[in-house]
Formats: sequence, C-alpha cells, structure tokens
Amino acid sequence: MLNRVPDYYESFCCLAGECPHTCCEKWEVVIDEETACRYFEESGPLGDKLRAVLQADEEGAFCFPLDGGRCPFLDEENLCEIHRKLGEDATSVTCREHPRFIEDYGSFREVTLSASCPAAGALLLGTEAPLTFAEMETAEPEEEGDEWLAYLLPLRDRMLDMLADRSVPLRRRLRDLLLLAREAQLALEEEREADLPALAEIWQAPRTWQAAGEGLTVPHGLRFLGTLEILDGDWPELLRQAETAVPVPQSEALLERIAVYFAFRYLLKTVNDGDLLSRAQLVAFAVLTVERLAAVCGLPEALRRFSCEIEHNGENLEALLWAFQWEEALSCTALLRELSW
Ligand code: SF4
Repeated sequence: MLNRVPDYYESFCCLAGECPHTCCEKWEVVIDEETACRYFEESGPLGDKLRAVLQADEEGAFCFPLDGGRCPFLDEENLCEIHRKLGEDATSVTCREHPRFIEDYGSFREVTLSASCPAAGALLLGTEAPLTFAEMETAEPEEEGDEWLAYLLPLRDRMLDMLADRSVPLRRRLRDLLLLAREAQLALEEEREADLPALAEIWQAPRTWQAAGEGLTVPHGLRFLGTLEILDGDWPELLRQAETAVPVPQSEALLERIAVYFAFRYLLKTVNDGDLLSRAQLVAFAVLTVERLAAVCGLPEALRRFSCEIEHNGENLEALLWAFQWEEALSCTALLRELSW
C-alpha cells in the first residue's frame, strides 16, 4: 500500500523523558480492546497494577484515568513504566501511534505528525523550505478506495501547489484557497464531483478581489475558541491576550508550512462527508489564529497550543467546522474579508 508522509517524517524521534510537554499528561490514555485483554492476562505486580488502574466506561471502552493529571504509568523520570518493563508492543495503540494522525483511505494511507508534539512541531517549523511529501510502498494489501478520491486528489494537489506558490503573498494564497474551495463545494453539492479534476486544472485566481467591510474573524474566532472544551487551564487567558495583542510579523515561509500541514491533514477528509469548504476555512483560520497567538507566546508554542486544544479534541474540531458553516462572523465570506483587509 502506498503511504504518503511529510518529508521530515523519518527524522521524528520521541523526546521521551526529555519532553517538555509529554503526551502522557492531561490526556486520558485510551486502551484498545486487544491491549486491555493482554493486561488482564499480565502476571506479577505490574499486572496487578494494570488491572487496578484500567477502567471501562458505560460503552465498554477502556482507559487509564489520569492521576494528578498524569498517566498513572508515567514514572518520576517521565518514562512509561509499561514500555520500560514490557516493551513498546505492550503499550496501547494510541500510545504507539502518537503523535501520528493516520488516515486510511483504502487504496493508500496518509500519515501526519501532530503539531501538538514538541518534537514534531520542531521538525515542521525547523526550516523555511517548502513542505513536501514523500511516498513509500509497504507490503500491506490495498483495499478499494472511495470513488470520490479520484476527483478530490487532483483538487487537493492543486490546493497544496497554490499554498506553496511563493510568488504570491500568503494571505492571497489563503484567499485563493477559499475561492477555489467555494467553487468546488458548489460542484459537490450539485453532484458534479467528476468536474473537480477539470476545475483544479483550469481554475484561475482572480487578479483583483476585495471583500467589503472590516476583517474581524480573528477576534471572533479567538472568542469562539474560548467557548469550547479546554485542555489547559491557561488557554482562555492566552486567547484573551491574543485578542488585544499587537500583531508581531511572523515568517511567511513558516506560516506557509503551517498552512500546508493543515491542508494535507484535512482537505482529503472531505471524502467522508462532502464538506470541503469548512476544511479549507479551517486551514485559513488556523494560520490566522496561530499567527495572532504567536504575538503572545511565539510561533512554535502558538501552533502547539492550537493543535492540542483543537486538533486533539474531536468535539472542538466538529464545533469549529460547524461554526464555519453557520456563524456569520466565521463564515467563508468573513474569512475572505479578513484576508483582504
Ligand atoms: S509529545 Fe512527542 S516528544 Fe513528547 S513524549 Fe509525546 S511523542 Fe514523545
């Protein structure tokens, strides 16, 4: 099966005990059924501890509840007791996969490294070179993919190319992404998905395009993010500070890499529900929001916090995609206005 990954994927190495923001804190550790069964069989004191800690919710899903905000198996050196004593294979799928986001499209797979992870974030923002993607074949058999993939892939490729075109200012590239996504969304809604490859090929960005009115999406967006579920207690304060912070110019090349990261991760997921436009809005919104947060805490931390609070909370992500459709202040038109301002 073909696997597509960011060009820095092979350089990733977990910081383990040296990690300043370990993923074994704050997030409850989900335990898959196979791993839970293994824990039920484990002998000795560690087996006893595993069974004592393991909890099942009303739907029968297993987890390790946090102890003082930490995984109960995270030791004083910030190392995993299960990994240390039983080996990596004994950890849950969630632990083994993190920080990888794995999207299985049947005929191919795409993997990203979550920007919530300091090591992955450092690779993403460690160079100003354009972000590219590598392909590798694995021995796993392919399955049949959704027929929409053949229509969406050329469109996503065109969007990635547009975002990487440094002859155009980044805000205009984001604007063009939204304008193309808006046309493509219309085609999807009119069941003209087969037109998408041609649209991707012939679409021309307008030479001039100006939305009327003042751009206020970022402050609205920051306030909206403050209404969502919170992971870290100081997130609302960070959002509040960002609202009034004087913008600090950020490297356009790094913001572009952030845009490409989000575009690669989300645009193709349109295959699941036909909603391309909200995901394109997410790309633009994420860049603008992270840029504004960076005025308070610096770009790497801004991206990490946004990823932790939004990318790793399915309900928050859903709420944001919903707001892009139904909240005027976060609509595509409002974002276009922001990008023209
Ligand atoms: S956040 Fe990343 S670097 Fe830190 S412990 Fe988790 S996987 Fe390793």
